[in-house]
Amino acid sequence: MSSTQPDVAIITGASRGIGAVIARQLARQGFAVVINYASSASEATALVAELRRDGHQAIAVQADVASAADVKRLFDETEQQLGKVDVLINNAGVLNVLPLAQYSDELYDHTFNINTKGTFNTLREAATRLNGGGRIVNFSSSTVGMNLPGYAVYIASKAAVESLTQVFAKELRGRQITVNAVAPGPVATELFLRGKSEEQIQTFSQMPPLERLGQPQDIANIVSFLVSPAADWVNGQILRANGGLV
Ligand code: NAP
Repeated sequence: MSSTQPDVAIITGASRGIGAVIARQLARQGFAVVINYASSASEATALVAELRRDGHQAIAVQADVASAADVKRLFDETEQQLGKVDVLINNAGVLNVLPLAQYSDELYDHTFNINTKGTFNTLREAATRLNGGGRIVNFSSSTVGMNLPGYAVYIASKAAVESLTQVFAKELRGRQITVNAVAPGPVATELFLRGKSEEQIQTFSQMPPLERLGQPQDIANIVSFLVSPAADWVNGQILRANGGLV
């Protein structure tokens, strides 16, 4: 990390939802942020404009995390515009709720290509390109601990992310880079709300003893901690953030 330039953070899937709130949080924390997105160009551009207006360094880079070539270009463009990467937040993800028997080959591949291979692609790039002392935060889900019907493929794709996290933390021995994962419970974003009735949303919100849905800021606060010096000793861990749900 350089003492004159701000540290650089890539946040995948930062055009909207939890990722956009993480980007705002890390920008406030002093990072130069890379807003990665797949298709929401106007949201990503608007977020960059907002952050720059507030005096922060921010760029938007389109890249499909499921594509190794796109991910390489994401790191290339970041290095060219902002410098080498210090922090990688693997937030991009998709959810399709459907019983396993009804899952198509296409939907299975789509889920694993983004949630699991997308994380693998960025980790592999980060292995050689992240600055020493850097931080990686992957995204799992508390559904891994709940075994909810309809979530089998999603849960499997996120369980794999937890395994990648725990092994990769060890493979980076000697680089002073920590690798952790956050596993949120239900958070009020499009990913969770889409396709659910008011009644289903109410049921989910009453499940945790804290009796509410998570908000993107709840998760951004945890990411903020994990990339801060206060979390220097936290490595290879899965942190479930769900108000006590599981
Ligand atoms: P969201 O509101 O649906 O936002 C998803 C973000 O990911 C968008 O910015 C989207 O960008 C991006 N994205 C999707 N596919 C991509 C790809 N192939 N390449 C790059 N970016 C891509 O989702 P969210 O609720 O914020 O979820 C964020 C993370 O938290 C996910 O990993 C999710 O599994 C996890 N999570 C969420 C919840 C929840 O209840 N919300 C619970 C547990 C875990 P585009 O619009 O450009 O595609």
